[in-house]
Amino acid sequence: MVLGELGTALAGALKKLGEHTVVDEEIMEACLKEVTRALLQADVNVQYVKNIVKRVNINELAAGLNARKLLEKAVFTELVNMLEGEGAQNAQNEGVTTKREKYAPKKGVPNVVMFVGLQGCGKTTTCTKYAHHYQKKGFKPALVCADTFRAGAFDQLKQNATKARIPFYGSYTETDPAKIASDGVERFKAEKNDLIIVDTSGRHKQESALFEEMRAVAEAVNPDMTIFVMDSSIGQAASDQAAAFKNTVDVGSVVVTKLDGHAKGGGAISAVAATRAPIVFIGTGEHIDEFEAFDAKPFVSRLLGLGDWTGFIDKIADVIPADQQPELLDKLAQGQFTMRILYEQFANIQKMGPMSAVMSMIPGFGNDVMPKGQEKQSQAKIKRMMCMMDSMTDEELDTTSLKLLQDPKRMERIGRGAGRSPMDVVELIEEYKRLAKMMGKMKGLKAPKKGGYGQS
Ligand code: GDP
Repeated sequence: MVLGELGTALAGALKKLGEHTVVDEEIMEACLKEVTRALLQADVNVQYVKNIVKRVNINELAAGLNARKLLEKAVFTELVNMLEGEGAQNAQNEGVTTKREKYAPKKGVPNVVMFVGLQGCGKTTTCTKYAHHYQKKGFKPALVCADTFRAGAFDQLKQNATKARIPFYGSYTETDPAKIASDGVERFKAEKNDLIIVDTSGRHKQESALFEEMRAVAEAVNPDMTIFVMDSSIGQAASDQAAAFKNTVDVGSVVVTKLDGHAKGGGAISAVAATRAPIVFIGTGEHIDEFEAFDAKPFVSRLLGLGDWTGFIDKIADVIPADQQPELLDKLAQGQFTMRILYEQFANIQKMGPMSAVMSMIPGFGNDVMPKGQEKQSQAKIKRMMCMMDSMTDEELDTTSLKLLQDPKRMERIGRGAGRSPMDVVELIEEYKRLAKMMGKMKGLKAPKKGGYGQS
């Protein structure tokens, strides 16, 4: 899970609070301290952390408000505020255009997108991930390697592109990156590719040679969008880097990489947000699919173990045949969450790949069902549950009646059929009940556009 440790620590602190029947000032203070420590350890800017503490008005507790909800909401609101840069807000203010649409390539015209960043930040990997992401959405991407600085850059791009079946262009002999870039772009325009991605050189540090080269390439290809790729492991130092790039080329948006393994991810994201450059994607692994559209609310929801419908639906969209998607969403919108739907979701989840990443998107599954490092056990649990569902009748799979499911005779038969005890069936039904309650929140929603807190 993205920023897993921070999420686990925050969710743990909030959960502890829920365990007390009466929350007094002392318990609240202790919990706030734990939340503060977790945020600071994740390198989140002190000012944001202070704001969270300020938001929690301990006096409200006396009014009988649920302490966990109160703190959860304060943490959620402040983290979202921190992540929604001005860019995102501007985009949202422009009527129906969402941030994602605003920074996405346009259909029907050739889009030239230039990627910039320091060496090793994950730029070349990100170019392919980006191409692959939009290829799945019907674009015809192509990759141009204008990195003449790093030996082997062209080979790497070529290898990635071949694997993903994306056409590429580069040169072993030409040394002028601007020339390669413009030749590549011209060629792919002629070949009717509508998403032409230009990978540029990086350097070990921000230096004038890098910025001059970036300007020259930009002049040669006149990009519709320049995307700055940044390694999250530098934490809050990201702020200076993002600002330097933003001041040199017209950085439209940012991709933050390597959020899978670094404790400093929180710092990097908050630092970029502070520069008001919108983060559009995050990289969460080396694999081509470990790339996610970034939206603050669902991101924070997942971080706090509250689940993320948007991400989950996106993933579903990737693996479920398009003609079956509306049916599923409609059923959920009508509040018809059945064992069969749960079974189908489990089956899809198994197709979707990296378990923890997918599971953490399902509201209610996050930190509780998928504790970090326990993916194997969780997978075994899912298999066990699916096996019990296999011995259910159609009536049991399609009902929304708990009374029917909890009939002792039926429970015994289901257990026997799967070689399990009735207690295991009870566990399955409890899990179903818990998820049905979460899914109940989708009732009345068509396809949820925004995930996160306060969605229901
Ligand atoms: P470039 O020099 O900026 O083009 O960087 P590369 O694309 O060559 O990436 C440098 C290293 O980072 C490679 O080993 C990549 O596999 C790795 N990398 C890129 N993105 C991610 C990510 O999101 N997570 C992880 N864990 N590794 C990544």
